[in-house]
Amino acid sequence: MHEYSIVQSLLDLCDENAKKNNASSVLKVMVKIGALSGVEPQLLETAFETFKEHTICHNAEFVMHLQPVKIRCRSCSNENELQEHEYICPDCESVDIEVIDGEDMYLMQLELDS
Ligand SMILES: [Zn+2]
Repeated sequence: MHEYSIVQSLLDLCDENAKKNNASSVLKVMVKIGALSGVEPQLLETAFETFKEHTICHNAEFVMHLQPVKIRCRSCSNENELQEHEYICPDCESVDIEVIDGEDMYLMQLELDS
């Protein structure tokens, strides 16, 4: 399950950041999960809860921000969030669009305790 390896590197990243800031623990971990990232939020949370024991994040709250697919239309220059996975501009119905958000998953914010 690839959520497990994501969580492992997430925890490593938290550990690294905490050390850099001389923090004794992590209070909150906020991640952004793009709709196209392929990450299953429920599985990610379970994996986090499982692996956080014995790490600097053992008391941390896990907050997930789900990012819908966001596109920019090359025809009318409007930006829209897509509700469905239909790659078409809701304003002018052009298919000449580029995805500008919602493709990946990353650490947004960390709250550290010193
Ligand atoms: Zn458009």
